[in-house]
Amino acid sequence: MVHLQYDAIMKTHRDVLSILKAKNLRLTPARRALIQYILDNKTKQISLQNINNYLEKNIKGVNRSSIYRNLELLKKLEIIQELNLPKKGKHFRYAFDNDIHHFYICKKCGKATNIEKSLYDRIEKALKSIKGFLKADMSIVFYGSCLICKESRA
Ligand SMILES: [Zn+2]
Repeated sequence: MVHLQYDAIMKTHRDVLSILKAKNLRLTPARRALIQYILDNKTKQISLQNINNYLEKNIKGVNRSSIYRNLELLKKLEIIQELNLPKKGKHFRYAFDNDIHHFYICKKCGKATNIEKSLYDRIEKALKSIKGFLKADMSIVFYGSCLICKESRA
């Protein structure tokens, strides 16, 4: 079982690296470390702060602007998604082989919740029937108030 999981991680890693290769992008130590860190935290929303801390600790001479550029690059390649969480700041999330990366984000506490696929399917269908609009950028974020914050306000 552990083995299978490990194989899956290795495969994902290879897939991500092959995207860089296909685009003729160099795999610098900083890029490699960043990708590894993101894959190690695949299911989490990682704060920019944590990414900076990790890379500064592990890669000699890396600076904030090169970290920023690499994050922008991974975003453009749709390997990661950027989330601006109220009160928590910039976060990044692995998005490459995830079907769903749409969120409700609470404006008060910054909690991000996945939008379930069934809802997204309905939104997509509505877009299609209104404008003949097909899959473009597959990322939707709604800002609102989560149940806990809504209740505590009363
Ligand atoms: Zn909340």
